[in-house]
Amino acid sequence: MTYIIEGQTGDWEVVVGLEVHAQIASKAKLFSGSATEFGARPNTQVSLVDAAMPGMLPVINEYCVEQAVKTGLGLKARINLESVFERKNYFYADLPQGYQISQYLKPVVGEGVVVIALPGAAPREVGIERLHMEQDAGKSLHDQDPRRTYVDLNRSGVALMEIVSKPDLRSPEEAGFFVRKIRSIVRYLGTCDGNMEQGSMRADVNVSVRKVGETGYRTRAEIKNVNSIRFIMETIEHEAERQVEVYETGGEVVQETRLYDADLGLTRSMRAKEFAHDYRYFPDPDLLPLVLSQEYVDTIAATLPELPDDKNARFISDYGLSPYDAGVLVAERETAEYFETVARGRDAKQAANWVTGNLFGALNKKGLTITASPVSAENLGALLDLMADDTISGRIAKDVFEQMMDTGKAPGAIVEEKGLKQITDTGPIEEAVDRVIAGNPDQARQYRDGNGKTLGWFMGQVMKATGGKANPKLVNQILRAKLRE
Ligand code: MN
Repeated sequence: MTYIIEGQTGDWEVVVGLEVHAQIASKAKLFSGSATEFGARPNTQVSLVDAAMPGMLPVINEYCVEQAVKTGLGLKARINLESVFERKNYFYADLPQGYQISQYLKPVVGEGVVVIALPGAAPREVGIERLHMEQDAGKSLHDQDPRRTYVDLNRSGVALMEIVSKPDLRSPEEAGFFVRKIRSIVRYLGTCDGNMEQGSMRADVNVSVRKVGETGYRTRAEIKNVNSIRFIMETIEHEAERQVEVYETGGEVVQETRLYDADLGLTRSMRAKEFAHDYRYFPDPDLLPLVLSQEYVDTIAATLPELPDDKNARFISDYGLSPYDAGVLVAERETAEYFETVARGRDAKQAANWVTGNLFGALNKKGLTITASPVSAENLGALLDLMADDTISGRIAKDVFEQMMDTGKAPGAIVEEKGLKQITDTGPIEEAVDRVIAGNPDQARQYRDGNGKTLGWFMGQVMKATGGKANPKLVNQILRAKLRE
């Protein structure tokens, strides 16, 4: 499972740390009451505070603080009862204040841990260094006019959580799993929608390489604002290879900020990396330190939902699922809830098979998410009941399921309408068996001569003759008896 780059001078490993920017799911911004809705017309969600008009004062949004604390608890991290907002000074056209309000020396959340489980490998802990709150900048629009750049301040002041990992990741795959896990946790908590296409989650990727066996870290490059898991994985691969080549041709990797160009499949230098002292951080004099009581934190802790790891463990112990199936089912909260509704009081493994197999396959084909599934969890459960009490066979169930998918109807109604009830009367089955045997004397002789495989062929014929509705167990019994006559 180890990711090794074989160079001219030996084997190299990659060292990755991520800074995940997660937009807090809040209707208002971090320090103003402006709306945060995605896709609004440019500059329609901008207050005087967001536009940094002289004399405007920031007011902390308590709801955002609560979401940051909740996320910290979800990352099993220490919550700092006192944290401080600081000004990170830099100039950019989409940053009207001339500084970003962030947290630096005293973030609201300290060290934590996230567990990632790659297929075929033992689960591994990845350290969380910190989580701090900060405001987002506006957006420069370079594609609206051939000669001008426009600035949209709708995003200016939107609340972000920056989740910083320790440099514990050792491959593109691990980085991909880590981001997926973070996304899964914030979605369970409801603190961020995790929507990477809309930019609600994006990552700065810190990459360095070192010879296998080396213990210290070498100089890293930071690739900014990577906005999909696939790009995060690709950028690590390309950047690690670039650095190995730099070292192997006698060069030195410099600390710098780079950009990932997905079209060319390479990273390129954006600017020499600033160091923290370049930003002239200092506590924002307009904001008091953020002081929380332990009681406040405990109250939030009491509202935490069951998180993916705990749910995973419970699915394995209570439902007897394989770690793989459990992992697939808990990745999204909605999927886990759907599964539990189907499994409750029923055969859990069968429920898991139907959800991860038939249902996922059908949803995929239609391009739907589970929340938009035409087949409700209750109806899928009812379908399993119809199989369990022998009303329909497993084969018919697949047809019924397809129709449920197309119509959204309950399985009972479809079975009734189409007359799909399983035939469990021996009379009609015996008749069908007699007819099939009489019509195929050669095959019947083969069976009697000891060719056991012929039985399967006869099963198929009788099932076909009964429109697939005959109870297979009965067909098998009656066939054997009659073929021996
Ligand atoms: Mn940041």
